[in-house]
Amino acid sequence: MLIKTILNKVHKLKSFVYQDVKPGVYQGSEVFNVTVVPRKNSHAVCSGCLKPAPGYDSLAERRFEFVPLWGIRVFLLYTMRRVQCKTCGVKVEQVPWGDGKKELTKVYMQFLASWARKLSWKEVACTFNTSWEKVFHAVEYVVEWGKAHRSLDNIKAIGVDEVAYQIGHKYLTVVYQIDRNCTRLLWIGEERTEATIRSFFSFFGTERSQQLEYVCSDMWQPYVNLNSAVNP
Ligand SMILES: [Zn+2]
Repeated sequence: MLIKTILNKVHKLKSFVYQDVKPGVYQGSEVFNVTVVPRKNSHAVCSGCLKPAPGYDSLAERRFEFVPLWGIRVFLLYTMRRVQCKTCGVKVEQVPWGDGKKELTKVYMQFLASWARKLSWKEVACTFNTSWEKVFHAVEYVVEWGKAHRSLDNIKAIGVDEVAYQIGHKYLTVVYQIDRNCTRLLWIGEERTEATIRSFFSFFGTERSQQLEYVCSDMWQPYVNLNSAVNP
């Protein structure tokens, strides 16, 4: 079937095969159900240590939401296996398209998160026939991935700013990297107190803080106090 060809083209799985694609109904709307099975002679991977391990048993079939095709929701259906890992004991296998207990495939979360940079989360949810919560989880997943894989080395210049939110005087402290070759948001903290900026520096670490050459801020009093405490 054509959809199988498309899936193998855009989302090929090394140790798994798209077995068949069937139209179906889920939550009251038409969907495509794609059955996924392990490739012959492939070993399940332990989700604890990410190493191949012998099989233990199988769990109930799970449903993972994929990027919709022609506005129709697409689900990968897969019977998760459990493995008997020498190191971790009995564990659920790790599948390349999913992340823990999340219902959405990684690729669909990336897809939603990339649209969430252009549209509001509500607009993304409406456009792709999904919920605000799912868009939120998608953005959260991508942000967590980015945080785990980003490098905080060689930062020479930062900017510290305060942002007011809601009506009243609620503030956030935001810290940006403002080097010539890289401008990005590094950290957000509640309030705009000395404790806030102190918690940024403890997150950032002493060694990195000492390598900073420029700190640009509007010199609001807590920053001035902290600066004189750090560099008396
Ligand atoms: Zn293991």
